[in-house]
Amino acid sequence: MDCIFCQIVQGCRPAAKILENENVLAFLDIAPVAFGHALVVPKKHYARLEDIPIDELSAVISVVQKIGPAVQAAAAAAGYNVSLNNGPAAGQVVPHLHFHLIPRRTGDGLQLWPQNRYDEGGLEKMAQAIIAALG
Ligand code: 5GP
Ligand code: ZN
Repeated sequence: MDCIFCQIVQGCRPAAKILENENVLAFLDIAPVAFGHALVVPKKHYARLEDIPIDELSAVISVVQKIGPAVQAAAAAAGYNVSLNNGPAAGQVVPHLHFHLIPRRTGDGLQLWPQNRYDEGGLEKMAQAIIAALG
């Protein structure tokens, strides 16, 4: 078992746990973007979003929804980001599906996304390409 989040789930690796139920574990990120940064994982190992059965994903997102306001309150924040890095190219370092819950304050300076512009017709073309990929 070389997955560090499986080790945390199994109790072989320490973690500051926040909430645990039959299918899901939430704990604090060891290197937080902001204090209170939490991770929510399914207890079973799935690498990517598209791998997890929808009922287990539902259990995971239920915990995200439940702990979000508590993380916000405990961190004295005004909001929070929920994110999931899906695949190494998207910044996923730990290959065990997890949601990040990152407390935010107005004006905290954290810039998440650059914004681009489509060329003329590019927006519609991209929508059609995605629809085609859906099959
Ligand atoms: P990723 O880049 O895969 O989306 O995020 C992985 C996250 O796991 C990172 O934010 C990192 O700080 C956190 N992390 C890595 N190793 C450990 C660990 O041993 N314990 C905890 N609690 N978090 C970890
Ligand atoms: Zn794992």
